[in-house]
Amino acid sequence: MVVKLGGSVITDKRKKFAVKRAVLKRLAEELKVAKEPLIVVHGGGSFGHAVASRYGISKGYKNERQLMGFSLTHRAMEKLDAYVIDALQNAGLPAVAVQPSVCAIVRNGRIESMELAPVRKFLELGIIPVLYGDAVPDMSKGMSILSGDQLAVRLARELGASRVILGADVDGVFTADPKVRTGAKLVRVVTPSNWRDVVKSIGGAGGPDVTGGMAKKVEELIMLAESGIEAEIVNAAKADTLKRAILGERGLGTKIMAG
Ligand code: ADP
Repeated sequence: MVVKLGGSVITDKRKKFAVKRAVLKRLAEELKVAKEPLIVVHGGGSFGHAVASRYGISKGYKNERQLMGFSLTHRAMEKLDAYVIDALQNAGLPAVAVQPSVCAIVRNGRIESMELAPVRKFLELGIIPVLYGDAVPDMSKGMSILSGDQLAVRLARELGASRVILGADVDGVFTADPKVRTGAKLVRVVTPSNWRDVVKSIGGAGGPDVTGGMAKKVEELIMLAESGIEAEIVNAAKADTLKRAILGERGLGTKIMAG
């Protein structure tokens, strides 16, 4: 099972480098109910996005300033990742950070291939690999940003995951950003036949997001559904919701499935 902890849940996206420690602690406890091998992926939240966007990392390599920007973005993500690992360890979960930029071969922002032998071994041993959205070398444009969402999807596909659960700070995918539009309605199921309409009505992410926010998330997940792996976006900011989803409850948020 692949569980992604959204940057919007574990950090305060409006404040720079603001980790939500209490939330992380609770989520680490909730992850403990997983019975099958587990991979955790997390987003950048207020750590990665602002730095990456200041230096235009996702636009590709254009000037020398970006080298320090790349370094700073990666470091910001390592810092957030350290909080995540600490929380998992404190909950008794044997988590190990896996740096995506040295196992994914990325071209034009998309993962072309991935070396996952060590990750498979971790899973076999019962160690929880923790990956994160990050600045990555890009074989075509020099550098780019690899989103936690794209990573989660790729890992799920390549490792034959049973399910992907994405924890966000909203109940799922809405007809518009629920934080901006009070009348926005929750879309219960996204399928290959309705996803284009859903994406059209969606707004961007709150705060600077170099990876495209909710619309991009749906686009990534629909590819996963097409390869037969079911995904669900749930509200991990609400206590026990992630836990219930891990335990097998369906329909807590938005399901993204083949139809
Ligand atoms: P994360 O970092 O948690 O993976 P994002 O911040 O990229 O997630 O996306 C989640 C955010 O997207 C929510 O906090 C919400 O405010 C915003 N958002 C924009 N449009 C929508 C929508 N149509 N449905 C749900 N959330 C939306």
